[in-house]
Amino acid sequence: MPKLNELTIAQAHEGLKKKEFSSQELTKACVDRIYEVDEKVNAFLTVTEKEALAQANVVDKKIKAGVVPGLLEGIPVAIKDVILVKGVKCTASSKILENYIATYDATVIKKLKQAGAVILGKTNNDEFAMGSSGENSAYKITRNPHDLDRVPGGSSAGSAASVAAHECIYSLGSDTGGSIRQPAALCGVVGLKPTYGSVSRYGLIAMSSGLDVIGPFTKSVEDARIVFEAIKGKDPMDATTVECPSPDLASARSPSPTRGEGESRQFPSPQGRGQGEGTLRGMRVGVPKEYFIDGMDNETEKTVRQGIAQLEKLGAEIIEISLPYSPYALAVYYVLQPAEASANLARFDGIRYGHSVLRPSPDLAFAQSPSPSGRGEGEGLYGVYAKSRAEGFGDEPKRRIMIGTYVLSAGYADAYYKKAQAVRTLVKRDFDDAFTKVDCIATPTSPTPAWLIGERMTDPLSMYLADIFTVSANIAGIPGISVPCGKAHGLPVGLQILAPQLGEDILFRVTGAYEMTVSHNS
Ligand code: GLN
Repeated sequence: MPKLNELTIAQAHEGLKKKEFSSQELTKACVDRIYEVDEKVNAFLTVTEKEALAQANVVDKKIKAGVVPGLLEGIPVAIKDVILVKGVKCTASSKILENYIATYDATVIKKLKQAGAVILGKTNNDEFAMGSSGENSAYKITRNPHDLDRVPGGSSAGSAASVAAHECIYSLGSDTGGSIRQPAALCGVVGLKPTYGSVSRYGLIAMSSGLDVIGPFTKSVEDARIVFEAIKGKDPMDATTVECPSPDLASARSPSPTRGEGESRQFPSPQGRGQGEGTLRGMRVGVPKEYFIDGMDNETEKTVRQGIAQLEKLGAEIIEISLPYSPYALAVYYVLQPAEASANLARFDGIRYGHSVLRPSPDLAFAQSPSPSGRGEGEGLYGVYAKSRAEGFGDEPKRRIMIGTYVLSAGYADAYYKKAQAVRTLVKRDFDDAFTKVDCIATPTSPTPAWLIGERMTDPLSMYLADIFTVSANIAGIPGISVPCGKAHGLPVGLQILAPQLGEDILFRVTGAYEMTVSHNS
């Protein structure tokens, strides 16, 4: 019998409904686990224990009074520290926001609160979600629960590690270039990056507004679906959101909106077919040759190929495809992402909120001796901006601000920014073409399993290469999911499945069927 904190959402929901345990007991089990392991794992920046237990108490009273709880009601969740929870500190793991307390709830938080969720606290991440290892936080380095000497991946490091270490039942992260899928793969949990625009970004501290999306980390595919259904949908506060198909409509729709034949394909539901062969009959899975590259870890490749062979056993037709522009996706990303980030981070200026040389922070030794005027060598307002930013931002945001400002500057914007936008369209077209031939695409999530802490910190390029298989989905705006598919060198490996825009249902069907057979075999 698993401990309460080890349950999935679906299992916890059943237990609450049957009154086998209370939400307070479930929440307490998670809080106890945080006390037990977080000193080592370092997943949390803020734990809202009191508020969590109070909310659990509210749910327990309702259940006692005979109300049947909703799917997420009374279930503890951890939130990446780039998503605003009213009244709770939100730092983006940056010193520049070290004393910022959110004044409103992000739309996803509003939705979770309406669903009765128990918010356990805020998780550590790479500063402003820039990074692939969790080491870029200004506060702490999150460790991989499978091997504490290794990174958990990033940027949603704490959200992935807290689920893997059973400090919560599920968590929310954000994915701009892979920050949900890559840490999910390295920590051996499920991570969903929804279609761009399917989940509201209102209340998410913006990094790259044309790429960012919020999504869940969970212990099962079913749970990922439950959370996605709860947080998705059009939001008047985010003009880029769209109405999403309901799950029933989605299963009846053509798997490829770009096919244009108006034909509707039905896929057998995994539940209806048991765990065996044939569950994925009729499903065409593309395997792009550009995603098995030289230099990729051999054991990781072998494990992912075994995962794909398993899909074939389930009845899927495996088709080799080509995404010829994919090799350019990483270069496109590292022009567009810094460009958008440099614009978004301009608001952190030492005047409106966060760290300011006008309000020296006791934590920053070099802020102890501001110039006598407190205004940066008497440079007036500009001096306040420059000095506050110099002190408040860490190395990685500074690097991105410089790259972004450069690629947007007069004389260079055509050569870099506009060129990258044009290639972005080509990457997207690659996927459009591929989805006329296949229903979904299977790839590795990461070219290697978790690496040692410190190993890549002096070489930003090797860190950027960690995103090589994930960024293309953000460039094309399509959904992707990473599910555990075995181990390499004793460490978790992720299988990534990509689908056309708004094709989350296809992801859940394929990985749901896969997960069932894998857990039954093991
Ligand atoms: N690792 C990538 C980066 O550093 C992706 C980050 C993310 O998805 N937030 O930009």
